[in-house]
Order: sequence, then structure tokens, then C-alpha cells
Amino acid sequence: MKINENFLNLSENFLFSLIAKKVKSYKEENPDKEIISLGIGDVSLPLSKVVVDALVKASYEMGVKETFRGYPPEFGYDFIKDSIRKYYLKNNVSLDLDEIFVCDGAKSDLGNMVEILGDNRIIIPDPVYPVYVDSNMMAGRNILLLDGNESNGFLPMPDGLSYEESVIYLCSPNNPTGAVYSKEQLEKWVSYAIKSKSLIIFDSAYEAFIRGDYPHSIFEIEGAKSCAVEISSFSKLAGFTGLRCSYSIVPKEILNGVFNKIWGRRQATKFNGVAWPVQRAAEAALSPEGLEACHTNINYYLENARIIKEVLDKYNIFHTGGNNSPYLWMKCPNNMSSWDFFDLLLHKANIVGTPGVGFGEAGEGYFRLTSFQTREKTIEASKRLDEFLKNMRWYYGRKANKIYICNWWSSIIAW
Ligand SMILES: *Cc1c(COP(=O)(O)O)cnc(C)c1O
Repeated sequence: MKINENFLNLSENFLFSLIAKKVKSYKEENPDKEIISLGIGDVSLPLSKVVVDALVKASYEMGVKETFRGYPPEFGYDFIKDSIRKYYLKNNVSLDLDEIFVCDGAKSDLGNMVEILGDNRIIIPDPVYPVYVDSNMMAGRNILLLDGNESNGFLPMPDGLSYEESVIYLCSPNNPTGAVYSKEQLEKWVSYAIKSKSLIIFDSAYEAFIRGDYPHSIFEIEGAKSCAVEISSFSKLAGFTGLRCSYSIVPKEILNGVFNKIWGRRQATKFNGVAWPVQRAAEAALSPEGLEACHTNINYYLENARIIKEVLDKYNIFHTGGNNSPYLWMKCPNNMSSWDFFDLLLHKANIVGTPGVGFGEAGEGYFRLTSFQTREKTIEASKRLDEFLKNMRWYYGRKANKIYICNWWSSIIAW
């Protein structure tokens, strides 16, 4: 039989396994050292009480004849769709219930949406959450990467792009860079999408981390309902990474309702809905009490991010994120590569982070730190990072079989 050979073109997913391998071997050689991970890419605080109460209550209902539930509606119960509708009203975005599709994860929706799209040019910022690239590679699509860099603040814009029908992936606040698009920037993207007859797939998984004056939803931008879908999740909002619940918003204005209709057809054919207790838990997360608890947790992460950011600011290290995002994306000092910096930070400060190059070529020379660690460990790691940046003007490294000494603020001297 033949297989889908596009899968053979995917790059090996070695990032986190290589990190684990390096950490393990360092631990074996240095059993007395306490390593702190600022590489955690998952929430770490537990579900709030109001969510757990709803989950427990709905679970018991499943064991009682009168309240037992079988298959849920494929697109979600009306009560949860209505909670999402009200959540969007806070940002002056009005949605119809049949534009909301509840699902078990934003990752699935992002991957699955490729199925209902034809062979368009795919535009993806780099560095990026790997799902966008990989799911389009699986479908054999042509991908155009837009480089993020210091000069665009890791927020690529459409300037210079030809007007060709495309599918554009935007993630704001961004994973891995923590960068957030302003209203003016998103207006430019929407106007590009309308002019070029393109579709924007907007990933707003981290919108609840926004504290500044930035759009939470692409639909806050005029005209976006004719050219954008939004995919979001309870994962980062309410700590649902283990519970699984997300939603996609597919406006009926896109292609006169055809896009909304075929997404519904796709979902109804291949997905049988989110569990009753999980939908009740998600509803509880969007209640006033639930949202207050969500934001207490998010504020905890944001304070961690601020603590790390303070150290980077102190040493004038270029970085994005940390204000409206759980992620900090820093330039490796002295033009080090991502992996060289990873090794150095592990060995000299016993801190683990994520090499930026693991999120795309444009991430080379950058490094991601996350705020999902405990407060105590974040404070300890920040002290170490401070010491490291202060004292480690000289270090020994190994590259291309040469031992070299590097002075942080000048050049590399090969020995
Ligand atoms: C965590 C995350 C999501 C959420 O994925 P789920 O499948 O809903 O847990 C979506 N997009 C990005 C960029 C993320 O980092």
C-alpha cells in the first residue's frame, strides 16, 4: 500500500527529547545540583474550585438515570456556546451561536481546519507553534515563512507580500515569543486578507493573559468577520490542558456561509462532541466567579514573568513577551546559538529553558523562558540568572571541536 509521503517530509520532533537527554546526563554527572526548569510549556496551577464543583456535579449526573447524558451535540451544548458568546460581548464582539463550535482542543481544530481548505499559499510567521507548519506539511501545502526578528519585534507584517489568495496563521499573544499584535497591526493584516481574498486563522489561546491595550480577538478589528476564523481554548485561560475543551469561531460572512457550513459538516462527520462534565466545567470557568479564579492564576504566572523580565531588563538583553504572555523570548547573549546558550545556562546556572531554534529557523540565537514554574523557584532562578549574567563574563565552550573562551561583551577567541 501507499502511505501519505508528506509525513516523511516532516522534521523530527526532537526538541523536547534532546532537552530531556541533556538534562538527564547533566544530573547524572552532578547529582547534588538542583535544576530549575523555566522550560515548562504547560499550566501548573490546579483547576479552580468552582470548575471542580461543576465537574463533580455533572459527573454524578452521568450515574443517575434521570440526568444521564449520551452523545452531546457535535458543536457543543447551547449553554456553553452562550457562555462563550457572552465572554466575547465583553470585547464588543457579537457572535451567533451557530458560529461557535466547541471542541476538545485548539490543537485539533488548528490541525483539522487544513482539511476544509484547498491548495492555497500558506503564510506562517517563524518562529511558531509547530502545529501550523506540520499540519500543512502533512497536506503537502506550499508554506511561506515570514521571519520574526529584532527589527519587527517578532511580529511579522504583510508589507511586501504579493496579493495572492492565502491562508495566514497568526498567534497573538504569541507562543513562543510572547509578542502581541496591536490593533493597528491587526488592521493591516485584516485589510491585506480582504484585498488578497485570503483567510486568517487567528490563534487566541493566550488572550486571557493580555493586560495592556491589545485586541483579545481578531473580531475586534472591523471587517475581520469576512476574512478570519478564531481558534481558542480553555487550556491556558482556565487550566484545562488536562481536561480538554476549546472552541472555534467560524463567521457566516466568510464565503456567504459556505465556510461555516463545511466546517460544521467536517466536525459532525469526524467528531462526536465534548463530554458533558467537561462542558459544564467550561461553563463554570466562564462564570463571574470562575473568571475571577482564572485571572488569579494568570496573575500569578504574569508576576513570575515580570520577575524574570526584570533581570533581562537589568542587563539590557533584547526580549519580547513577559507582559501579556507567560512567555519570555530573549536574545542569547554574545550572539550565541540557541543550543550553546542552553548548554551554558544548564551548566553554569542550572536553569533549563527552550532553545528558540526548536520553533523554527528564525528562532536561532534566541531562547524561550516560561513563567509556569512556582513563585519560589522562579525567584531562585531569577537570582541565578542575575548572577550568571553579572559574573559570567568569561566562559569555556566547545564548538567545532575547538575549545574557546568567550568574553560576553566582545568576540569569541578560538583556542
Ligand atoms: C497551548 C496552545 C494552544 C491550546 O491547545 P489545546 O489543544 O487547546 O490545549 C493553542 N495554541 C497555542 C499557540 C498554544 O500554545
